[in-house]
Amino acid sequence: MAELQRPTLCCCRKVLTVPGKSCESGRGLAHCRPVDVASASNFHSFKLRHFHLDLHLNFAVKRITGWQVLELTPVQPGVQSLILDTHPSLLIHSVDCKVPGASGTPDVFISLTHRVEPFTDYGSSLNISLPAAVIRPHRAFRVTIRFTTTDGPAIWWLDAELTCGQTRPLVFTQGHSVCNRSFFPCFDTPAVKSTYSATVRVPEGVTVLMSASRSAYSKQDRVFQFSMEYPVPAYLVALVAGDLQHADIGPRSRVWAEPCILTCAVSKLGGSVERWLNVAEGLFGPYVWGRYDIVFLPPSFPIVAMENPCLTFIISSILESQEFLLIDVIHEIAHGWFGNSVTNATWEEMWLSEGLATYAQRRITTEAYGEAFTCLETVFRLDALHRQMRLLGDNNPVSKLQAKFEPGVNPSSLMNLFTYEKGFCFVSYLSQLCGDIKRFDTFLKAYVEKFRFSSVVAQDLLDFFLGFFPEMKESCVAQREGLEFERWLNGCGPPLCEPDLSAGRALTGPVQHLCDLWGSDPPDPQKIATYDISSWSTFQIVLFLDRLLDRSPLPQEGMSLLSSCYSALLDGMNAEVQIRWLQIVVRNSFYPELPRVRSFLHKHTSRMYTVPLYEDLCCGVMKCFAVEVFYQTQGRLHPNLRRTLQQMMFQSSALNTSTAQSLFSSPPSVPSSPTDPPANGTIALRDVNVSA
Ligand SMILES: [Zn+2]
Repeated sequence: MAELQRPTLCCCRKVLTVPGKSCESGRGLAHCRPVDVASASNFHSFKLRHFHLDLHLNFAVKRITGWQVLELTPVQPGVQSLILDTHPSLLIHSVDCKVPGASGTPDVFISLTHRVEPFTDYGSSLNISLPAAVIRPHRAFRVTIRFTTTDGPAIWWLDAELTCGQTRPLVFTQGHSVCNRSFFPCFDTPAVKSTYSATVRVPEGVTVLMSASRSAYSKQDRVFQFSMEYPVPAYLVALVAGDLQHADIGPRSRVWAEPCILTCAVSKLGGSVERWLNVAEGLFGPYVWGRYDIVFLPPSFPIVAMENPCLTFIISSILESQEFLLIDVIHEIAHGWFGNSVTNATWEEMWLSEGLATYAQRRITTEAYGEAFTCLETVFRLDALHRQMRLLGDNNPVSKLQAKFEPGVNPSSLMNLFTYEKGFCFVSYLSQLCGDIKRFDTFLKAYVEKFRFSSVVAQDLLDFFLGFFPEMKESCVAQREGLEFERWLNGCGPPLCEPDLSAGRALTGPVQHLCDLWGSDPPDPQKIATYDISSWSTFQIVLFLDRLLDRSPLPQEGMSLLSSCYSALLDGMNAEVQIRWLQIVVRNSFYPELPRVRSFLHKHTSRMYTVPLYEDLCCGVMKCFAVEVFYQTQGRLHPNLRRTLQQMMFQSSALNTSTAQSLFSSPPSVPSSPTDPPANGTIALRDVNVSA
């Protein structure tokens, strides 16, 4: 793809358009890096006050047609063009502009010339020429863009067979990280926020929901109206439309779902959500978004959950695994403060959203369910972090909290456990420095209040921390040897320290003892029989199975004994437990249990459960079995997932590249669909299901 001259973005967020020239921050060239946001070359030239979307959804041809009105004010003199992010799949029909007439004269309408140019593999640049005669600094004007979406990465059309009810089609959007440029032209960067509104026209019987604080519906016209009164970045604009019904589960919360799963969804969450919101408000200050609703999406939803403001999107497959559902919803609630209200200004510092949201999620679970429960969940996730570390090696650049993207790298590929768990460990370390967890809660509350509805870089957080605790600034905690803040941010490898999780020992201790018994040669069935895992929680069982999986392949006799002890029990448990057991089965090539693998893959059609199992099947001696099951089930898989699995089975050598390569170099010559999350191996996919 042709390389355009890329804008460079400094940590001080001053944008330079001259590559190689340092900025005024005094930090030198190392801090000024190219960014893959076409609009970065001019988003500081404008104030985006608001935008409106007017959309018509056509399920028959899977297209959205409409227009967008951007309300802009130039804040610098000499602005000659407006550059927005867009995508080759978005067809731009026309652009025009309305400028208010001066002192009583009528408004001026002008048709604007525009051109779309290639920019990266995941986006294009929309360059709109602005007439110098009418565009003046600090005078507002409106740009209207007419467009049609086609097959872009943000928009997922599901035929009726791919929905839970299998009677009506459904469409949803997924903007994180840089997909919404294929939904509507935008400043597709978390540094720019604005309010938005939308008018959506749909066929009869279709319900539309958006990440908006207000909504209204005119049944007669079949038109939905939405308004988001609080500023949000482009990636948090989200839409879902289909056969959706709702039930209230609290004073400010309702569950939305297809009718066939609504009762189940309500029964799993009823009463809890308001309790979690109350706990979070007690810790971090008021929940500012008004509503907190949840919509359950069919298994084709490509991730577990997405923190769209006012309306969390979550996959219905998680409904059967109660503890995971609880953690995932609480995590999304935590984003109401960390990520949605205070946002990372660049995708290179995604930990500012995910690390803080993970810390906040664990503060909420500690208050609501106790320290032992939270420590168990943390142990299980930190295990996964160390597993990913072993896979990637100590010096892998993805393990840095402040990642540095090379040109052309899709920021979505940075979703990894370091963002969540190393980020969490750094925030925990800051809390330890403070010496009192409640004092640190007060700090976080003040941080949210200070930066509410804005976008920040790590320096903003750390400067505010040292200002809030002057005694720590005086004792130079930022430079403490071996634990320097700079080393936390820019060092490769595991967290520099981890929080004390001994409060979870009553729950994690038996798990480790049982793992040790299974590790002895030969295992002693009598000692093993003293542990009744049927009384364990889901997180204890998944920790046990993950640790056995780490030891696989196991001795053949051990595998037979494992199967006779646990197989029947685990088969009746939730999918998070089952997938781990079946991965053990596959990695040990244990043929007697293969029918269970087949029936699991016939039942589960989501990416989070199919991809890890197929990866294991294709790496081992069971590839023929994988191909057979794939052909039996492919009709019920989303085309994007089908494509991922086909690549895995028929080009499996291409997938054996390390995560490091796939993240930090140009995409392979046969890239997967732009709509697919990167296939970085089992660990990356399954363990990142803490969601976006
Ligand atoms: Zn998250």
